[in-house]
Amino acid sequence: MPDFYLPCEYGKKLKCTQGNDNAFSHKGKAEYAYDFKSTETANFNICATASGVVKKVVDSNSKTGLVESNPANYILIYHEPDCYSLYLHIAKNTAKVKKGDIIKQGQPIANAGNVGYADGIHLHFQIQKEESSWGQSISFQFEESSSVEENHFYTSQNKWIKSAADYHSQASYPTLTAGGDAVEWWIKFTNTGEETWENHNQKNKITKLALGTFSDPDIQEGRDFQCGWESPTRLAVVSPDCVRSGELGTFTFKIKAPSSMSSGKYRLQVTPKSPEGWLKQKDGQELNCFVDIQVEEKATIDDLFETSNDNLFTGCMMPTSENDLFSQSTGLSTLLSANADIKNVKWEKDSCLPDENVKIDVKLHDVPDGTPIDISIMEKDTKSCVMPSLSGIAYNNTFEHLMTINWIDSYQPETNQDLFVISAVIKDGDNQPAVSNSLHVDTLNYIFL
Ligand SMILES: [Zn+2]
Repeated sequence: MPDFYLPCEYGKKLKCTQGNDNAFSHKGKAEYAYDFKSTETANFNICATASGVVKKVVDSNSKTGLVESNPANYILIYHEPDCYSLYLHIAKNTAKVKKGDIIKQGQPIANAGNVGYADGIHLHFQIQKEESSWGQSISFQFEESSSVEENHFYTSQNKWIKSAADYHSQASYPTLTAGGDAVEWWIKFTNTGEETWENHNQKNKITKLALGTFSDPDIQEGRDFQCGWESPTRLAVVSPDCVRSGELGTFTFKIKAPSSMSSGKYRLQVTPKSPEGWLKQKDGQELNCFVDIQVEEKATIDDLFETSNDNLFTGCMMPTSENDLFSQSTGLSTLLSANADIKNVKWEKDSCLPDENVKIDVKLHDVPDGTPIDISIMEKDTKSCVMPSLSGIAYNNTFEHLMTINWIDSYQPETNQDLFVISAVIKDGDNQPAVSNSLHVDTLNYIFL
């Protein structure tokens, strides 16, 4: 059975006015029921004792008094097989939930009333086995106290855990090669709820926020991309360790296409999930986040390097010693295509402020089909990468990648000029970088206004 909390708001007090097995009315089906009253607010907010799904809601009746034929107002919530909670006598037209709603522990569901067989405003509460407006009550314990007795007061510890996440940004959609290297991908969400996200379990209460993928049969193929994930349906936990309300949480994970995978487009559903369930946006809407993955066919080494080397390096801009970043590479230079340099680098904008996205289009021509290519963008001075390198593969003697960079941290407007190096590294058949001679570099000045 789940943990049951007192059916009122956190910190509020309830008085038990009738306990289990009481001769007045808690006999038979109601043997394990409790009646509660609030001494502070008669029509107190009734809150769900545990998370679940609303199965029945009746709040249109109004008759009151000790008349057995009075129809009652009530809410019934499903928690797990053979486990429902029943909230009886709720006030007319006060239900805050409807049939089918997925609700969280502590969520207000209605106001206490006296509709039905009742001689005063109170809540009749029981846990029962059947999906029924009046089922056989069963014995259980509240988290607040192992025994709840008549004429005693109890303070609710029933916290409503309100988690919400709004989409913020993500890495460019990846292209994978069947049997090729893993690619790292990230997505960011703003914590728009009240609950802090953590990446660990705390005090035996699980508060871990993970990025999950659905087990929907239509998108189950997502699991085939797993590479060092937490589990087949949990891609990553949130970072940093603790993300407070209003802060950004990032999920970073790797995906890899197995060599048996056919080429084509795949879609991986990615949504943050807490132990209470899938997170929604602050406005209650579903989060619909995906990674669209292009998988290219596995290339064989024979396919890769059949171009003649007659005009080797023609048209290439050779790397200078200053930006010769891959001098440790291994030697296949003579097998490489001559004109595989960056022919076309387009920046979407000619100015950019922090937190804006910039689209960059990198095109390579005359590259043998199937050649694996890594595109990197680095600061010229520090050679630090502006973004994780992107891998792709040439088709129709061309390689093109349109990427989006979120210009958030490193480049501030006071720097009035930054020089970037865009490099395309052609790899050999083992997916290792080829010799430095094959490194074709273009540079551009990027000026912030
Ligand atoms: Zn009762």
